[in-house]
Amino acid sequence: MTRNTASLSWSLLRGQLLHWLLSDDYRPEYLAYLLSPRAYPTLMAGRRNQLILTRVRALSLMFAALTLLWIPLDLAALPLRVAGSLSLSRGCASVAFLLLAASTRRESSLPRVYASLAAFYAVPTAFYFVSLLLLREVGADSPLAAVALHAYGIVPVVAMAGLGVFPLTILETSVFAAPIILGEWFTLHLHLGTFLPGGAADALWLLILMAGVALVVAVSQLGFALALVSQSLHDPLTGCYSRASIEELLQLHFQVSVRFGSPLAVAFIDLDAFKSINDEHGHEAGDRVLAAAARSIRAALRAGECIGRWGGEEFVVVFPGKPAAAAMQCLRGMRARGLGRRPGGGPVTGTVGVAERTADACSAWEALVRIADQRMYVGKSAGRDCIVGPD
Ligand code: GH3
Ligand code: MG
Ligand code: MG
Repeated sequence: MTRNTASLSWSLLRGQLLHWLLSDDYRPEYLAYLLSPRAYPTLMAGRRNQLILTRVRALSLMFAALTLLWIPLDLAALPLRVAGSLSLSRGCASVAFLLLAASTRRESSLPRVYASLAAFYAVPTAFYFVSLLLLREVGADSPLAAVALHAYGIVPVVAMAGLGVFPLTILETSVFAAPIILGEWFTLHLHLGTFLPGGAADALWLLILMAGVALVVAVSQLGFALALVSQSLHDPLTGCYSRASIEELLQLHFQVSVRFGSPLAVAFIDLDAFKSINDEHGHEAGDRVLAAAARSIRAALRAGECIGRWGGEEFVVVFPGKPAAAAMQCLRGMRARGLGRRPGGGPVTGTVGVAERTADACSAWEALVRIADQRMYVGKSAGRDCIVGPD
């Protein structure tokens, strides 16, 4: 049975990996994303943090209620003195879960997400050890007592299975699973015992198996969540960020730029005479040219710089930390390499307007985009295929 479970876990993991490799949405970086969250793009990291924290809060509320629901069984099945102490400990655990749910915000940084998860796991761990100490002298004298004791034995198993609820990487799941296994090993070592029918050694083995299953489930969740998040953030035709995503990024980068006094350049790119491509060669040919132009712009950008499709054949590029001159140099390089070919022959060109937060004294990201857009129109009036920046 053990071997079957292990082979099932492995085939699930392999299936999940193959699914990504075969799907349209597969990107090579996804495999690295499953290992560690260090390289996640800003918006993707933010969405995953939100997802984890929402679940921590929901589960905390659920466990705050479930922990109390068990009290009547303890009182019916166990000696009154022990059941009373256990009820008190359940009350404390329930309050701790409620406090955690109340203090968990939806938006937070990764260290805060880890702190919330650690706190979420600290509550059942503390409860489990207190229960083991209180139940040391109690025997399973009646079938009801056996049921009650068995429930305490499975606390670590439930905690381990719970890891699968969160979209965690392989490293994160391992780090959170290790203390649960170590804790169980510790109880074995201290002869605190367990209340599972098979005894402590079986409990440990079950827990290790459960860790394997939780790992597969958590990583599958992560892959699924990242694929969905990625889809929701990007424009399907060009692969650039969608309008809403690039606006969110502009806002974030603007805040950082103001706080640290760093430069922030923005380019507004509008492809030239694009309507005539559609008119002469059809919409599908226009779509292909649009996607190729987006690829060419992306290829000119460095890590941390991002591009969004503002609408139709218009793109906005964000250059965090770059003064206007450096951004314009990058854009000249892009223009020199070209934006692709028109179906009827001739190069695809674009007119670009550039604005920079300090040079243009902008107090909001919207003003940056508006000024870049206005400069793009100046470029159109001047004959197109050019870059217009601050003087
Ligand atoms: P200009 O040089 O002045 O910018 O001329 P233009 O033809 O590029 O500008 P205009 O705003 O007149 O036309 C933009 C065209 O872009 C019109 C629209 O049909 C086309 N377009 C917008 N979105 C898409 C798209 O997703 N696919 C295709 N194929 N065409 C699109
Ligand atoms: Mg346009
Ligand atoms: Mg145009």
